[in-house]
Amino acid sequence: MEDKSILIVISGFSGAGKGTLVKRLISDYDNYALSVSMTTRAPRPGEVEGKDYFYVTKEAFEERIRDNGLIEYAQYVGNYYGTPRDYVEEQLAKGRDVILEIEIQGALKIREQYKDALLLFVMPPSAAELKNRLLKRATETEEAIRNRLRRAAEESEGIDEYEYIVINDDLDACVRELHSLIRAAHYAAKRNEGFISRIKSELETYR
Ligand code: 5GP
Repeated sequence: MEDKSILIVISGFSGAGKGTLVKRLISDYDNYALSVSMTTRAPRPGEVEGKDYFYVTKEAFEERIRDNGLIEYAQYVGNYYGTPRDYVEEQLAKGRDVILEIEIQGALKIREQYKDALLLFVMPPSAAELKNRLLKRATETEEAIRNRLRRAAEESEGIDEYEYIVINDDLDACVRELHSLIRAAHYAAKRNEGFISRIKSELETYR
């Protein structure tokens, strides 16, 4: 079976812990490449240019949109976020599974363009736990936290568009679950149409 690389979209409410999960997937397993997004939001303390995001001005972002340099982009709580095209296409061509950690509007745009993309949604065990985690992060104002919770309520409407949900309660267990779901996705019939039709045509000779 030819093992085609998969474009993996991981979404989840802000504070659900998806950033930590994604970092663990990259460090625990070999075959993943993480796409670094472009954003117009300011870096948070400790964030690094080129590692967490490429931080750009609104003008530079809009130029990138016009040049077709992003495979998707969205506005989230007043800022632009987008996925640079080159890296994703290069890594998929090399046979690596590429992870996009993006919000829901972007996820849906990816699914329109890449029909075999795998959409995963990370949930907290409860809404109260989500609020706790945002408060603990303490890098943002109360107003920003309120906006993120409001946005989570809106985003919860779209969860049924995703293929699988995972609950981030125990980090180690959640990393293993995500990896297993991705491995299983490689064997889905819908992602192996080429192989299936080859076997079918080989079998034609026995009819
Ligand atoms: P944060 O400001 O907390 O880093 O990210 C805010 C939201 O934007 C998160 O839900 C994150 O997944 C999403 N996001 C980050 N990069 C991208 C991107 O390239 N495209 C889209 N559509 N969303 C993104």
